[in-house]
Order: sequence, then C-alpha cells, then structure tokens
Amino acid sequence: MKIAIAGAGAAGSYCARRLLAGGYDIDLYDLPHKNVCGIAPCAWMTTADIAPLLAGVGLDYQDYVLRSFSTVRFEDCDLPAVLMTIDKPRLLSDLRRGMAVLDGSPDLSRYDRVIDATGTARAFLPPIADDHLCRCVQVRMPVLPSLPPVPSVRYVTGGYAWSFPLEGGLRHVGCLSHLTDPADLLKGCGFLEDAAGPVICGCRSLLRVTAPSGALPCVSSDRKIWGIGEAIGCVYPIVGDGIVPAFESVRLLLDHLEDPEAYTAAVPAAFPQMEAERDLLLTLKAGKIPGSGQLLRMRDQTRLGIRIGVAEVARVLAGVLARTQEHGYTKDRAGHGPVH
Ligand SMILES: Cc1cc2nc3c(=O)[nH]c(=O)nc-3n(C[C@H](O)[C@H](O)[C@H](O)COP(=O)(O)OP(=O)(O)OC[C@H]3O[C@@H](n4cnc5c(N)ncnc54)[C@H](O)[C@@H]3O)c2cc1C
Repeated sequence: MKIAIAGAGAAGSYCARRLLAGGYDIDLYDLPHKNVCGIAPCAWMTTADIAPLLAGVGLDYQDYVLRSFSTVRFEDCDLPAVLMTIDKPRLLSDLRRGMAVLDGSPDLSRYDRVIDATGTARAFLPPIADDHLCRCVQVRMPVLPSLPPVPSVRYVTGGYAWSFPLEGGLRHVGCLSHLTDPADLLKGCGFLEDAAGPVICGCRSLLRVTAPSGALPCVSSDRKIWGIGEAIGCVYPIVGDGIVPAFESVRLLLDHLEDPEAYTAAVPAAFPQMEAERDLLLTLKAGKIPGSGQLLRMRDQTRLGIRIGVAEVARVLAGVLARTQEHGYTKDRAGHGPVH
C-alpha cells in the first residue's frame, strides 16, 4: 500500500515514523513555513503523558524537556501542576529523521491511502458541518532575568493569554480568543511588558475547538482519506493542548488501519474530556451560565496534573462569562465576528 501523509506537524511526523517502522511505503508532504522556528503552530507545553508515546518510537522525552514545573500561576493564584516545556521544533525534526519532506500537497491519484494531518486546514477530508475555530497569536521572546520561572496564565476577553518559560531566558507568550483579535488582547494582558529584547519569532494560527465528535467524518466515504490530529478535532477545546492527542490519534489509526468504522468510534471514545470542554465552551460562547453537571465534568481535570476544585472552576468561568457578556459573542468592538 502506497501512503501519502499530508502535513508534517506533530500528527503527521509521528505517523510517518510509526508507518515507516512498520515497513509501509510512505511519502510525507508539508507546505513551507517562513517563520524562524520553521513550524506552525509552535507549541511548547506538554505533560509526562508524552513519555510512553515517544518511547514507542525510540525517543526519550527527557531529551526534549526545556523546563519542568510543579505549579502554574493562574491570574494571582498558584495551582499545583505537573507540566513541562519541550523543544517542539527539535522533536519534530527528530521524528522525521531519515525522511524527506516533500514540498506541497500530494497528488491523490498516486496513492492508495492519504492521511490528512493538515491540522486546522483539513485540506483533504470533507469540510466539517459545524466547525469551530478560534484565533491565536504567539511569540517567542527573551524576558527579564528577574521573572520567576513559572508558567503563567491570565484570562482575557473570550479566552486566555499564557507565558511559558523556555530555556535560555526565553518565553513562549501567546493568546487565544473566541471573540476578538487575540493580538490586541495580548498587547493588553501585560505579558509583553516582560520582554528583555526584540521578539525572535511570531505567528498567528487557528485552533480547532470542535472536539472529535463534532469533526466528522474522520474517514472519507471512499475510505481513501483518513484524518489524524487536529484535522479531526483531537485537541482540548478549552486548554488548547493537542500534541499528546495528535500522537494518540496516530496510535488509534494504527490500531484500526483497515476498519474505518472502528476508527471513527474509537477517536471520540478516547477523549471524553474534549467532549466535556466543547460542551462547556459552546455554552459560554452562547452567553449562558453553565449547569452544575458541566462544572462537575470539568473537575476531572487531572490530565495536566492541575488540581482544580469546583470553586476555582466556577471562579474562572464567572470571569470568562463576565467578559463574554460584556463584549458580546457575535460581534466584538472592532466588528469582527468569531472565526468559523
Ligand atoms: C497558538 C497555539 C499554541 C498551542 N500551544 C500548545 C501547547 O503548548 N501544547 C500543546 O500540547 N498543544 C498546543 N497547541 C495545539 C497543538 O499545537 C496542535 O493541536 C497540534 O500541533 C496539532 O498537530 P497536527 O499535526 O494535527 O497539526 P499541525 O501541527 O497544525 O500540523 C499541520 C501541518 O499540515 C501542514 N499543511 C497544512 N495544509 C497542508 C496541505 N494542503 N498540504 C500539506 N501540508 C499541509 C501545515 O503546514 C502543518 O505543518 C497550540 C496551538 C496553537 C494554535
């Protein structure tokens, strides 16, 4: 079977390595990236859940860890967490070691199977009927040496901003919003004031917040195109972490390589928390107050090692909701609608 993988991000690079190790004949494609770090989106935070997935392809996650954290500062509150920043550009490069990445998109007629790993572009699978994408902006920049090496998160209109310590006095700073231009929000949130020099790299991107059950089909009706990663909604809609889910989706694909129905059932079943986050997000975006059942589902938020009680969840959501109602969902002050 001749397989094309379209997209050499987290999902496509991991998939290429796994399929190559399994003896498959593959070609890996990607579009050129013009930004300094050479990937997009650049994402740096993850958890130890990545360890067994990388071990499965002969890589040691510790080779990629830049900083490890036992707390995360959420507004003014330090919460226990088990998190780490990793060198994602180097990890992707190591996953692709020994493989050529072909420029552009595959010619479908040349392949028996095409894996759509094109992230939010979802360039080959049929479009999603009710897709939800939010806008993000991010930069990598040097920060003041006096800054404590703690990841920080602040909520902003319709989303949140983050500042994650990397190595060598650098930080990954970004913002996502479901309501308005995150670049304006990033300027106002205070994190850019920590800069100790010019921005090294920056880009804008989208995040798919549809969750797998909303991102169907994940296999085309002729069974030729199969999706993985963010192309099929494998990213947590509220927190926005998608690296480990992208790898997990590849594992599911390999388990069901000849059974599209089983694959379609397995993906949403593997990520129940994504479904809970999507449910809550859509409630908030509609300007409604979440029910107690929705809040309780969010309490199971242990995957990031962040221990959040119902009181903290309610406080955070109240803040988000207040801003959502203040600015309205369908139009922000600049007249931009949400990106759908
Ligand atoms: C601003 C931001 C910050 C994030 N931070 C984190 C984080 O800290 N931790 C975390 O776990 N997750 C984070 N995420 C989410 C995570 O980065 C994604 O969910 C994950 O990268 C998805 O991997 P993917 O391979 O499915 O898609 P992508 O990484 O988006 O890769 C898709 C690839 O497909 C290529 N492509 C697109 N169209 C075509 C085409 N027609 N032909 C060929 N190639 C094509 C693109 O060039 C790209 O290289 C973040 C996301 C954003 C937007």
